[in-house]
Amino acid sequence: MTTSTYQLWGWGRSEGDEPKQAELEQLAPLVRDHLGLPLQGPEQPAPLAELPADRVSTRLPAPLTGIASSAPIDRAAHSIGRSYRDIVRGIRGRLEAVVDCVLRPTDESQIAAVLDWCSDARVAVIPYSGGTSVVGGVEPRVDDEWTGVVSLDLGAMTGVAEVDALSRAARVRAGTAGPALEEQLKAHGLTARFYPQSFERSTVGGWVATRAAGHFASRITHIDDLVESVRAVTPTGVWESRRLPGSGAGPSPDRMLLGSEGSLGVVTEAWLRVQPRPTTRWAATLAAPSFDVGARAVRALMHDGLMPATCRLIDAQESRVTGTLSTGQAALVLGFESYGAPIAELSARALELCRDIGLEVLEAGERGGAGEAWRSSFVRAPYTREQLILLGVLVETFETAITWDRFDSFVASVTEAATAALHRVCGAGTVTCRLTHVYPDGAAPYFTVMAPARRGSELAQWDEVKSAASDAVLAGGGTITHHHAVGRDHDPWYVEQRPAPFAAALRAAKAALDPAGILNPGVVATG
Ligand SMILES: Cc1cc2nc3c(=O)[nH]c(=O)nc-3n(C[C@H](O)[C@H](O)[C@H](O)COP(=O)(O)OP(=O)(O)OC[C@H]3O[C@@H](n4cnc5c(N)ncnc54)[C@H](O)[C@@H]3O)c2cc1C
Repeated sequence: MTTSTYQLWGWGRSEGDEPKQAELEQLAPLVRDHLGLPLQGPEQPAPLAELPADRVSTRLPAPLTGIASSAPIDRAAHSIGRSYRDIVRGIRGRLEAVVDCVLRPTDESQIAAVLDWCSDARVAVIPYSGGTSVVGGVEPRVDDEWTGVVSLDLGAMTGVAEVDALSRAARVRAGTAGPALEEQLKAHGLTARFYPQSFERSTVGGWVATRAAGHFASRITHIDDLVESVRAVTPTGVWESRRLPGSGAGPSPDRMLLGSEGSLGVVTEAWLRVQPRPTTRWAATLAAPSFDVGARAVRALMHDGLMPATCRLIDAQESRVTGTLSTGQAALVLGFESYGAPIAELSARALELCRDIGLEVLEAGERGGAGEAWRSSFVRAPYTREQLILLGVLVETFETAITWDRFDSFVASVTEAATAALHRVCGAGTVTCRLTHVYPDGAAPYFTVMAPARRGSELAQWDEVKSAASDAVLAGGGTITHHHAVGRDHDPWYVEQRPAPFAAALRAAKAALDPAGILNPGVVATG
């Protein structure tokens, strides 16, 4: 019998992916030399502490007992996502709140039965798909009024159910994770072309519920752009929108579910717009004398209507750490893709614009070394992060979006506030920035924080830094999240950000769809 808790906090799917002591010992000097952080010995993950009693399983009606699991590791693994706070708590084997049991429906009638029974029994229901939430979205932090909390895991409802090649759309079940989606679409010569960094584990249902964003920088950024229609089971019935390429018929039913984070209904499937696989790819890496100058080039590209598929502006420090560029300059990784239309003119024009603004072209054409270094560090990041955490590094990210008119001062003030908090709380540390998504009217800055963690106090340390950063984001006019969702962690700032009449409308919608208020209490529509 295994004693590993890796499935609780790790990114890999098998215990073989768990960081080995020897690997950590090898990485430790790099943390000191490359990141400039003090050395801390590798931490040995603790066994899972005893969990509170399961209050639900024995009360479940017979048809639902067959889909229930109350195995301790299963309960624990469904009670956290994959934020820094989650990983630290998972490594320590100590969670403050744990779901009573996990229910794995195989069809919509079982979901409806769960919602019915939970409404009557005063049991809260937290929809769960890939469990990659970084904002406390799947965590059972709920009031005492509930007689229990269950995690409703959509993992048994997976796969591409139907492809409409003529309209280029696919009906996909909610529990389908990125790799399975792409593999099944590939058989039809198609792709969803939607790659969040959590692609390996996150799912279509989770993407719709959180308004996730893929790694392409412009044009199609959020899952919203791909959603043709959504089907969800709510406590008061099935909500299914019509498949349409566009519609001006009143407020959009899809928009209402997009970003509802499990508080209005359980998404069971969505029709997604898909496309042929790209046949031509072009990539370039450029050096910018500063992040601000790089941002000016990005703005010019967008204002010129070029809309590159990849447009990652990475500040000098992050460029060095990721191995993209070690010259002390900011890096701009650009890319165009096409499945037919020529891109030579677009790419030539992009380089010309960037050169005019003062950027230097380091490589262009087929994918080159620097761009590859960045891409490989992007894909490996979740694995590297858990190794760093085991070595005592506080490492987390936060992200936002802002219009160009406030961009420069915004990035400066948020960086300053986060750095000051980091130095106050951790005594040292760095805050780096890159642009993940770019628009004609603004951009989405994404900040990475690294600092020496004080073992045992990490959560309090991060909470203080995150709070200072979030205050600065709202004060500067940004959004509390561009794509990481609201969850429980962002709720105080989300409540401040949204208009009060809109909050009242959301609460009314929640009351109509979920009269007992069982669905993900404390998230988005409930505050
Ligand atoms: C390393 C890492 C990288 C990440 N990179 C990105 C990124 O590039 N872009 C991005 O947008 N996000 C990113 N995220 C955040 C996260 O992956 C997204 O929020 C993702 O959409 C969550 O999908 P999931 O399937 O894991 O959902 P879960 O974590 O299971 O759930 C997320 C929320 O949605 C609700 N929910 C889940 N499934 C359903 C459903 N079927 N019906 C109704 N509600 C549901 C849950 O209750 C919860 O509130 C990243 C996270 C990590 C850890």
